Amino acid sequence: MNQTQKEFMEIAIGLSQSGMDQGKGGPFGCIIVKNGQIIGKGSNSVLSTNDPTAHAEIVAIREACNSLGNFQLEGCEIYTSCEPCPMCLGAIYWARPSRVFYANTKSDAAEAGFDDQFIYDELNLPYSDRKIPFDQILQDEAKKVFENWILKENKSVY
Ligand SMILES: [Zn+2]
Repeated sequence: MNQTQKEFMEIAIGLSQSGMDQGKGGPFGCIIVKNGQIIGKGSNSVLSTNDPTAHAEIVAIREACNSLGNFQLEGCEIYTSCEPCPMCLGAIYWARPSRVFYANTKSDAAEAGFDDQFIYDELNLPYSDRKIPFDQILQDEAKKVFENWILKENKSVY
């Protein structure tokens, strides 16, 4: 960790405190940096926006992609005040930043009442044993659209 990385993480931690103080949501903050510039920032805003996906990382990724006018975070660094949950981890992989720094661990989050271990546990179970039932229906009909996608010309492949 160098001095600049330390300062960026302090900003992310500051957002975790200010978001919590403003009643936006839980104590989580995140910033996204490209070429030394902050291009996206977020605090957990689940409560203020009634959006269960408004985790700090998601809020920051949306802002950063909007600033870049791109759906990829190529060459970007993410500084998040806590190790990402499975949803944010997935979003980070889709966004493809170059590096992630985190401060608190997921066990620190669990001690504060934010336990995402149950999601990791669910991933290892067959659908039939999961807490939320998943049933497959109308595969043939849905698959036709995939076939149309495969045949579609002039599409952006990502
Ligand atoms: Zn998350």
